[in-house]
Amino acid sequence: MPTSERQRGEVRELFSAARIAERVRELGREIGESHPTGELVLLSVLKGSFIFAADLARAIDRPLRVDFLGLSSYGGQTESTGVVQITSDLTKPIEGAHVVVVEDIIDTGLTMAYLLENLATRKPASVQVCAMLEKPSRARRQIRIDYKGFVIPDEFVVGYGLDYGERYRNLPFIGVLTPPGGA
Ligand code: 5GP
Repeated sequence: MPTSERQRGEVRELFSAARIAERVRELGREIGESHPTGELVLLSVLKGSFIFAADLARAIDRPLRVDFLGLSSYGGQTESTGVVQITSDLTKPIEGAHVVVVEDIIDTGLTMAYLLENLATRKPASVQVCAMLEKPSRARRQIRIDYKGFVIPDEFVVGYGLDYGERYRNLPFIGVLTPPGGA
C-alpha cells in the first residue's frame, strides 16, 4: 500500500479538502475586501501554515507580498512549552505595511501573543491575524483572530500543513490522529 494511503488510515477526517477550499476562498475574499489600498504582506508562519498560505494567497484578488517567519514552540511534542523561538526571520522590513499573519492553528495563543508583540516593534501600518483553526478551550492568551477558518474541540489535528513529528503535513484534509489500533 502506498505511504499516503497508510497515512490516511491513521487520521479521522474533520474537514474535507473541498470544505477547506471553500472556506479559504471566503477568507481570501474577506481579506481582499478589507484591504482596498496599501501594501499588503501575507506573513506565513512556518512550517504549519505553508499550504494554507499558498492557497490563501491565490484566493486574494489584489497585489500582495508573501513573506515567511519560522517559529518553533513544540519541538515535536503535542503540548505547548510556552517557549517560542524564531528559527528564520522575515526577508524584508514590514514598516508601513498592512500585515496579515497566516497561522495554521491558535491553540494556547502563546505563540501568536509572542509574535504579535515582536511584529509591533517593526512598525507596520496594521497587523491582523488569519488562522485556519482555533482551539478556544485551550486558550491561555486572548488573541483577536480577524479571519478564522474553523473552530475545533480540544483534539490534536494533522493534515493540510499540520504535522505530528513532521508527518501528515501533505494530507489534503484536516483530521484527528487516531491511536494505533483505532479509536
Ligand atoms: P499555541 O502557542 O497557540 O499553543 O500553539 C501554536 C502552534 O502549536 C501551532 O502553530 C501549531 O504548530 C502547534 N499546534 C497546536 N495545536 C496543534 C494541533 O492540534 N496539531 C498540530 N499538528 N499542531 C498544533
